[in-house]
Amino acid sequence: MITNEIKEKLRAIVGAENVLDSNIDRFGYSYDSSFVPLVPANNPDVVVRPLTTEEVSKVMALANEHGIPVTPRGAASGRTGGSIPLAGGISLSLDRMTKILEFDEKNMMVTVEPGVRTVDLYNFCADKGLFYPPDPASWKFSTIGGNVAENAGGMRAVKYGVTSNYVMGLEVVLADGTVIQTGGKAIKNVTGYNLTQLFTGSEGTLGIITKVLLRLIPMPKVRNTLQLMFYSLDDACATIHKMLQSGVVPAAAELMDKMSIQAVARHRKLDIDPAIEACVIIEIDGDSKEDLDKQAKQIETIARGFNVAEVRIAQSKQEEEDIWAIRRGLSSAVGAMAPNRLGEDISVPRNEFPEMVRRIRKISEKYNLPIAVYGHAGDGNLHPSVLCDLSNPEEAERVHKAVDEIFAEALAVGGTLSGEHGIGITKRPYTLSALGEGGIRTLKAIKQALDPKGILNPGKIW
Ligand SMILES: Cc1cc2nc3c(=O)[nH]c(=O)nc-3n(C[C@H](O)[C@H](O)[C@H](O)COP(=O)(O)OP(=O)(O)OC[C@H]3O[C@@H](n4cnc5c(N)ncnc54)[C@H](O)[C@@H]3O)c2cc1C
Repeated sequence: MITNEIKEKLRAIVGAENVLDSNIDRFGYSYDSSFVPLVPANNPDVVVRPLTTEEVSKVMALANEHGIPVTPRGAASGRTGGSIPLAGGISLSLDRMTKILEFDEKNMMVTVEPGVRTVDLYNFCADKGLFYPPDPASWKFSTIGGNVAENAGGMRAVKYGVTSNYVMGLEVVLADGTVIQTGGKAIKNVTGYNLTQLFTGSEGTLGIITKVLLRLIPMPKVRNTLQLMFYSLDDACATIHKMLQSGVVPAAAELMDKMSIQAVARHRKLDIDPAIEACVIIEIDGDSKEDLDKQAKQIETIARGFNVAEVRIAQSKQEEEDIWAIRRGLSSAVGAMAPNRLGEDISVPRNEFPEMVRRIRKISEKYNLPIAVYGHAGDGNLHPSVLCDLSNPEEAERVHKAVDEIFAEALAVGGTLSGEHGIGITKRPYTLSALGEGGIRTLKAIKQALDPKGILNPGKIW
């Protein structure tokens, strides 16, 4: 419990209007976009909304002195429960820290506060002819702080990588309120441990990110979209492999299985041949129209070698939009098929993508549960969605067993528990099998060194 005296001190730091402790406010900060059930025990005692690094530092120093848990929070779009305050205490919302602090055109870098929305940063850079590539599907509401804390990926990861590939430096407030700077604008930097990468993906358990220095790249001049339909999943995957091996690297290569395609078809009233087993949506980019046409031709030729049923190359911006609408509508279309949907996020070596889909099919049959599979096939990141009714205890039991097996199979083919959503609460039971005892001991040693009282986002990752 946080005493009134401590609340008064918090009000003195951030202003009374930025300390929220009504029941409705506490409830509003008790959940995120994961499938973690709502329970009153996850209400924070108080919500604190700082505006500056100095305020964050003072809040942390106070929390550390009194051993109060602090759970940082961006837009709460996380899928694994990362911003849920499991131990009560302070929900530290970074939503007021929304400034783009510096645009360094010569070095092609930008410094931002953590609460800047991903799409706003993209648009800000695009206006200046520069490109910030990480594009989580949640980019219209996710924050850069949350993206860094989760090392978010997106559709363009296959060509341009994920958030960590663009983070050059950070300002971080440690558990005791100390403010540190990591990295910097020098491209080559091997001074000490790479703390920038340590904090990237640390899910709010090691420090509060208060500034982010990001590198940018030139904006591709032109883009286009292709849609390929296949009668077999193996042919779809083989096309993507061959394409990457032959040096045609698309900006995005998204794959959907039959259940996902039919879900979108129903939802958007599209007429899609029921014999189609896989749909691949590809984005290509480059410097000129000729360059794009050449890439599109190469992809079409490769796909024809693998019995593609249909090749559609967008002829207009509208057609591009129509094709991407299929992918963007997927989550809600699949979600509409059952009372509950447990969306997972596993990542496997690229060549194991079709094998992993086959193993998920077997799990689906074994537990008699529909599982739609889609994902970023270009980089081996799959999102199996278990469609179910969790109000039925017997079915819920089957769902949990099926999810356990999906993780076990992902590890068995050399993959990981998470490609982009992090571990948070939901994947915590599986970290030991993924990292081993030595791995977990190492993570704990780092945590102990940076947060000896264990106040930062307790209960997450392990
Ligand atoms: C519809 C939908 C689609 C999505 N698509 C993708 C996708 O394509 N790719 C992808 O990678 N993810 C995706 N996500 C997941 C989610 O959007 C990302 O994990 C995102 O990075 C979270 O950002 P956020 O601002 O919402 O962070 P939150 O959910 O608020 O927090 C996420 C974690 O970061 C910590 N945190 C937040 N801010 C800070 C900070 N300043 N300092 C320290 N720790 C902090 C929190 O404690 C928590 O552990 C999707 C989610 C939804 C709902």
